[in-house]
Amino acid sequence: MRPLLARISFAALAHNLAAARAAAGPARLWAVVKANAYGHGLTRAAHALADADGFAVLTLEEAAVLRELGVRQPVLLLEGYFDATEIPACYELGLTPVVHHAEQLGMLDRSARSGTLNLYLKFNSGMNRLGFALPEMERVIERAQALAQGGMLTLMTHFATADEAAGVAWQLAPFLERARRHRLPLSLANSAALLRHPDSRADWVRPGIMLYGASPFADTGAAALGLRPVMTLTSEIIAVQELAPGEGVGYGLAWRAAQVARVGIVACGYADGYPRHAPGGTPVLVAGRRSALVGRVSMDMLAVDLSGLPQAGVGSPVTLWGEGLPVEEVAAAAGTISYELLCALAPRVRVAEG
Ligand SMILES: *Cc1c(COP(=O)(O)O)cnc(C)c1O
Repeated sequence: MRPLLARISFAALAHNLAAARAAAGPARLWAVVKANAYGHGLTRAAHALADADGFAVLTLEEAAVLRELGVRQPVLLLEGYFDATEIPACYELGLTPVVHHAEQLGMLDRSARSGTLNLYLKFNSGMNRLGFALPEMERVIERAQALAQGGMLTLMTHFATADEAAGVAWQLAPFLERARRHRLPLSLANSAALLRHPDSRADWVRPGIMLYGASPFADTGAAALGLRPVMTLTSEIIAVQELAPGEGVGYGLAWRAAQVARVGIVACGYADGYPRHAPGGTPVLVAGRRSALVGRVSMDMLAVDLSGLPQAGVGSPVTLWGEGLPVEEVAAAAGTISYELLCALAPRVRVAEG
């Protein structure tokens, strides 16, 4: 059997949920499980995070999966319904759609309303992606109140620079200035805001990445935040090549040995979700020791330098990221963020949970 395996730790998920709860204080917590729980498996994550106060997803399909699993907590649709045909299911499944655009209010107005609907009203406080303009708040709330028919309204915004030096204050102040007039519950904080800007916790927090044990910050690792990696991507060395000076490895012979070199071929490639653009030097653990990628990542394989690891050979265990090698470190070397690596884990990768 191909040795590539993604180990998903339920204990780490539970640990990180507890850490998020501790950071959230009295705020209630949406566990963000969009994108197949950031590549960890929606069903799996929903089981391990069963104590969350609610689950946040992107699509109706994901919400339906959660309801089929018997999830009774609120389920938040982070971008709401994309067209009017999705509205009946929001009632039937008891979902909480985000409403971020006047057109969505129009769809609701024109749809048959069966009972009450809790709504999240999203406002644009500076990220300029989704949300009503702040000066529209009064009008939007009035309109939504009529349409929700007694359902609960929550005011929401999203931070663009919670993980950076610019912080959240520049968005938080103008949002709160208006939102506080309405005495409605508020939901603002993603992982970065929750961890670094406790003043933004409000009533419902929305952590995602921290639940999976990765740091949202470029300058602080997950361990320093008290988080444990949930996904560990492991494989083995399936071949060893001895290279003479000047010989290269992989497509394009993009790396060449300056002196005699030993190179290990690892069963993991870009078709598994490992980033093809990861450059030589990207860290890889071989038998618990640090090594580095050499040459180009292929579809099913990649190569690592074994020159400093004479004990390593065929069958040596390899960690691509996770326990012992933070995913954010691999991501940074590859010019991306942990989110992208985790979400990109390919369906063909075997998963072991526990
Ligand atoms: C994905 C998402 C989150 C979670 O963000 P993290 O950085 O993973 O904590 C929170 N809120 C919204 C609106 C999102 O889309």
